[in-house]
Amino acid sequence: MGRRLLTSLEMLEPSTPVQYVKGIGPRLAEVLAGKGIHTVDDLLHYLPFRYEDRLNPRSVAELHAGEMATVIAEVRNSGLFRTRRMPIFQLTVGQGRSRLKCLWFNAAYLQDRFQAGQMVALYGKVEADRDGQLQIMQPQFEILGDVNEEGGADLAEKNAAASLEIGRIVPIYESTGKLTPRWFRCIIRSALENLNPDLPDPIPPAVRAHLSLVSPREALWKVHWPDAGESFADLQSARTPGHIRLIFDELFFVELGLELKRREQKAQTGIAFQLDDRVREAIKKILPFHPTGAQKRALKEIAGDMQTPFPMRRLLQGDVGSGKTIVAFEAAIIAIENGYQVALMAPTEILAQQHYFSARQILEKGGYRTVLLTGSLEQDRKRAVRRHIAQGNAQLIIGTHALIQDRVEFEKLGLVMVDEQHRFGVMQRLKLMKKSDDARVGTGDSPVPPGGGARLSTDAEPDVLVMTATPIPRTLALTLYGDLDVSVIDELPPGRTPVVTRCVPDERAPEVWDFVGKQIAAGHQAYVVYPVIEENEERELKAAQQMHRQLRDKIFPDLHVGLLHGRLDADDKERIMREFQRNEIQVLVSTTVIEVGVDVSNATVMVIEHADRFGLAQLHQLRGRIGRGASKSYCVLMHGGKVSEEGERRLDAMVRTNDGFQIAELDLELRGPGEFFGTRQAGIPSFRVANIIRDRQLLEAAKREAAFVIAGPNPDISQDEINRALKHMRSRWALSYGLVEVG
Ligand code: ADP
Ligand code: MG
Repeated sequence: MGRRLLTSLEMLEPSTPVQYVKGIGPRLAEVLAGKGIHTVDDLLHYLPFRYEDRLNPRSVAELHAGEMATVIAEVRNSGLFRTRRMPIFQLTVGQGRSRLKCLWFNAAYLQDRFQAGQMVALYGKVEADRDGQLQIMQPQFEILGDVNEEGGADLAEKNAAASLEIGRIVPIYESTGKLTPRWFRCIIRSALENLNPDLPDPIPPAVRAHLSLVSPREALWKVHWPDAGESFADLQSARTPGHIRLIFDELFFVELGLELKRREQKAQTGIAFQLDDRVREAIKKILPFHPTGAQKRALKEIAGDMQTPFPMRRLLQGDVGSGKTIVAFEAAIIAIENGYQVALMAPTEILAQQHYFSARQILEKGGYRTVLLTGSLEQDRKRAVRRHIAQGNAQLIIGTHALIQDRVEFEKLGLVMVDEQHRFGVMQRLKLMKKSDDARVGTGDSPVPPGGGARLSTDAEPDVLVMTATPIPRTLALTLYGDLDVSVIDELPPGRTPVVTRCVPDERAPEVWDFVGKQIAAGHQAYVVYPVIEENEERELKAAQQMHRQLRDKIFPDLHVGLLHGRLDADDKERIMREFQRNEIQVLVSTTVIEVGVDVSNATVMVIEHADRFGLAQLHQLRGRIGRGASKSYCVLMHGGKVSEEGERRLDAMVRTNDGFQIAELDLELRGPGEFFGTRQAGIPSFRVANIIRDRQLLEAAKREAAFVIAGPNPDISQDEINRALKHMRSRWALSYGLVEVG
């Protein structure tokens, strides 16, 4: 067995497990797996996060303090000395009469490495010590050879020329555990050297030509080992031809998948809903207010989709409080009036319940039959509700997304709406949609040929509308929602006054409670939000409960103070929300379960404790719970003594602006796209080399090229080339996102 493995070492394929790369065994392979590196391909896409220019060795005599320099010199002496705090290793090298001192902290391990007479290459920042002597702290080093040995001088020279460390632009990799940048240099170098030279290029030649892309092999070599002439600025900003090729690769195959999905959906048979005067009248009848211009426009776009015989796949985007719900209800009426059922899914039970209340209030006028289906319903009730749904008695079905995932049987499902989509990631959404595909009446899974081609199936796909409050910059919407059309509500309902936001240290809590008391005396209500973060849930929940007791018993003994958190059972949650909605509770102490969607317009104060511990998007969502009526609203961000620098920036941003777009941009900047969109929930494709903020333009190019490929063969591109690209795309999607069914 061991022998067989040895022969397979000779030539590495991209798919070869890293364990078989020379120098990596099963143990290190495990460490690498922790970094997401499983195959040779993964390893080769572990790119340097920066580069060092170690091109020109300098002579010791001309060094000056403050510069980064490469020096090749001879070892004169070395030794370890111990200070009270740590052992320090000191090396002195020389060139003729010039001397240079090098120091390494905590480096007893270097003790026997150097001998007088060796040639070493050193790289680091030159500094002047207290006596004005030049020194380099913690330099990178490489022992090139020993001039005292026979032929040693020649060898040293040869080594210097071939060095991975010196005399070139050197890649710096993020180290991980014991794996140093230097280790990565050697390993990646060896993997590149042993890589099968005939790497197929899955990107069609026409696309390659459009963007002047270099070959994958060349790209890999050059991002790891840049030529001496490469622009340093381009390297640092990932804009060399090699970088561009690798980044484009990654984006292109994601876009190809989304584009295919989009075409496929468009090619399916949908429901052509009728929108005649009768339906229009029905909508008018329920409207509790005049829709804003933006709401009208959004509804028009949605209704337009619904009338076509193709399935709608649309995203409705609008900042918190912009009024998405009513638009959703209008769409629901179109479907119901056409004799179809509608499912509305919310990310939390509380939000589902709230939608259920408002649906009943608003839609009752039209006599529509609405049911609530959430995971925590009692079995009997759940069964009864399911029966209503299956028999077609229920027209609007509101629930958490468990609703669809539990394979609910609908009698005639025509429209699926997913609220607060930002809580679901892209990949999750694709899976949800897959479920809603499954939920259609009947089945029929014939594959769709690339390039469209109507599907011969009589099964109608339900329309899908997803709603989000996350204001996503357009280019990002392209990747994340590349398979959706987008409507935007960019106008708030009339009469809103911007929320006033203040940061207040904990010591001033008495003033805050005083203020809250005054607002309540004026007839308003308040939220007090306490962070409960999963890791410390137990302890923090206790803190929230304690806070509740204190507010109830000590601070507002004359008021009704409620407590809401995720651990309550459904009935309690429902009761508390209802009481708050009716102003039977004046102060609602809550965890972030109220973050999304909750709508009580009489609430004008939001106090957020430990506000510095919340993410920016979360703070914005929370603040979105107030400022929903005509009265002036106040958001108070409380914080204890020590706030991290990033926490400070978040709080500042909240005080500075109410604009969801600005907040989203800043949040992206602070957290990076992965965290922003919740990679942890497998939300966004986690890119190995691309960064969708930095690489916006390549993203647009990738989208364009994906559309070109999906459009089908033409003189520039053959069906074979298209098929090859699609095949590669599928394996990438399967590998990275576990979604085999795409395409
Ligand atoms: P979101 O977009 O955050 O889901 P909602 O749909 O919950 O916002 O609406 C926020 C509040 O604004 C609700 O109280 C709703 O009744 C109200 N609202 C929505 N549209 C209008 C409008 N055109 N005129 C007045 N009030 C509106
Ligand atoms: Mg909403």
